[in-house]
This record gives sequence, C-alpha cells and structure tokens, in this order.
Amino acid sequence: MFREHSAWLSTVEMAQARQKLIQQLSYEIKDKRVLEIMGRVPRELFVPPSSQHLAYENIPLPIDLGQTISQPFIVALMTEALELKGNEKVLELGTGSGYQTAILAELARCVISVERHQKLLDKARSTLKLLGYRNVELQLAEKRLGWPDGAPYDAIIVTAGAPNASRELLDQLGPGGRLVIPVGTPFEQQLMKIVKHDGRLDTVNLGPVRFVPLIGEDAWPTE
Ligand code: SAH
Repeated sequence: MFREHSAWLSTVEMAQARQKLIQQLSYEIKDKRVLEIMGRVPRELFVPPSSQHLAYENIPLPIDLGQTISQPFIVALMTEALELKGNEKVLELGTGSGYQTAILAELARCVISVERHQKLLDKARSTLKLLGYRNVELQLAEKRLGWPDGAPYDAIIVTAGAPNASRELLDQLGPGGRLVIPVGTPFEQQLMKIVKHDGRLDTVNLGPVRFVPLIGEDAWPTE
C-alpha cells in the first residue's frame, strides 16, 4: 500500500514532534505544569485528519465551520495566565475543537466549556470522551454570554475575540478570579488578563493576538 509519506506521521514521530514543540514553548512559558500537560495531550486528535501532520507546528489550524484551533503558544500563554493550581472551577467560552478544554481539565478541578456551534460541540464531546475526561461539562451557548448557572468561577478563559470584557462575564467571576480575554476588533485584539479583587480590577496586557470573533449579546453580531 502506498501512502503520502509527508502527510502522515507515525505515533513515535508524533510524540517527537510534540516534545520539540514543548521545548520551543519553554523559552517563554515558565509554568512547568502547563508544559508537562501540553507534552501529553495529543493535539493531533483535535485537528482535522488532513492537517494531522501539522498538529505540532506552532500555528493555529482551521477546524470546521470557519473556526480555528488556537496556536499552541497562545494556548500555553492563556493557560499560564489563569494560574491554575488544581482546585479551580473554570469556564471556557469557545470550545471549538476541545483542545484548550482538555488542557484546562488536566490542570483544574472542573471545566464548563460553552460553544455556539452544535456540530463543533458534538465533535469536541466525542474527542474528550475518547480521552477519558470526566471533569468537563460542555454546553451549547445561550443568549447571555458565558454560563451564569455555574458561577462563580475561579477562572474564565475566552478563546474568541471580544469587543470588551463585559460586565456579564466579570459578574460570573468569583473574588480573586482571573479572566483572560482577547479584546479589540473582530480582526485583531490585545490579550488581557483581568484579576477581580474586592472592589477593583487589575488589568495586564499580554500582547497582540488574532482570534475569530466572539458572537452574541455583549459581543459581535452574527457573521
Ligand atoms: N478553544 C478553541 C478555539 C476555538 S475558536 C480551540 O482551541 O479549538 C473560537 C470558538 O468560539 C468558535 O468555535 C466559535 O464558534 C466560538 N464562539 C463564538 N462566540 C461564542 C459565544 N458567544 N459563546 C460560546 N462560543 C462562542
């Protein structure tokens, strides 16, 4: 049987590519737990079969319905910014492929992840089930941003570009909670980390990023 050699990697090659990527990330990402987990979660299972050979390139990749799986460096940067120690309840907006969800599930107590496309949600659910994650709850997005029923959260991560860090989301964050969110236009954003303290918000800019738009009330209108 012939196969297009360049387009397929064996399991061993895949593991080697994964370790090479982690090595690359370790120049800027200092949280050892984040690096260790990203060194174990098989990103190739979250990308379309036709791009599996690119799973460990440090680039975003298209998934279904015009959405993208984030660049590994950005996943690492955002996860590190959430400062997870293992006992947190985390909310993710934008399940997409479910890759970021898996990383969060490894590092926190439990994760609620919300997605507006049923098809992506179904695919992510089957991948996460295959990998055995039991501390993840996936929800189809409703009119209000986030998942207020599960609030308060210790950390909220938004993996789509928002016009601002809305009151709606900040209200779902508990005291001392961290919100990591790309804020800007539908085409480019700044990655903001906002920490909620008693009566004040501390904000740090983690740099420029480019995400698909966050859609909905308190965000951008439908494409
Ligand atoms: N974390 C994902 C990134 C997916 S791209 C991954 O690594 O694969 C961002 C996702 O946000 C898209 O799937 C898009 O459908 C979803 N999205 C956009 N607006 C949303 C909203 N208001 N609530 C939940 N998900 C939303």
